[in-house]
Amino acid sequence: MSGVFPRQRHKKHKTTVKRFLLFAGLSLISLILWGVITQHRVTASEVMPTQITTNTNTYWQGGSFPVENFQAYTSPYGYRRSPRGSGTEFHRGLDIAAPEGSYIRNWWAGQVVSLSDNTACGTSITIQSGEWKHIYCHLKGHVETDNQGMYLSDRSGGIQIWKGQQIPTGTRIGRVGMTGRTTGPHLHWGLKYADKYIDPALVLREMYRRQTASN
Ligand SMILES: [Zn+2]
Repeated sequence: MSGVFPRQRHKKHKTTVKRFLLFAGLSLISLILWGVITQHRVTASEVMPTQITTNTNTYWQGGSFPVENFQAYTSPYGYRRSPRGSGTEFHRGLDIAAPEGSYIRNWWAGQVVSLSDNTACGTSITIQSGEWKHIYCHLKGHVETDNQGMYLSDRSGGIQIWKGQQIPTGTRIGRVGMTGRTTGPHLHWGLKYADKYIDPALVLREMYRRQTASN
């Protein structure tokens, strides 16, 4: 009789240790996941107050909504289930649906720093305005090169945009198309501040708030 009790106690102790390890393991995993999720949120909101929201209402008059004939925001910035196949991916932009052929307008006065038509982004333009870089994907047309340089050509849309060209705010720089990897006509709009991607929706919201505020 006396020999049974210690064995049982030992068994009980082993189960407690196992449970504790399982609990600790699960806690650690959730802590890591929580860290990954919140870290991204913190980065975006950190950029907003210091670099963006300190700008005056007058400053925000310099911006234009990037597309005509807005229909809907079809995919937000951040983690999402991959539209192609399984798994998740980080969506580095905001998808703005508009009928195919709708004109895209330059968000902020700046210089065309890059043109491309051979990636998932399709026919695309990147414009730099100080610390900002704004990227427009899936446009109609293609990139051409001649002895004058490189340009985006969308003839039926009357668009010809040269690399290096200075573009005022609100200028038509292209049209909504289906180039690159896309399942429907939309503008994929990417925004970088000081070379870091940020959520374009935060910026559009701030711009709208400031533009409609009384000065
Ligand atoms: Zn997109």
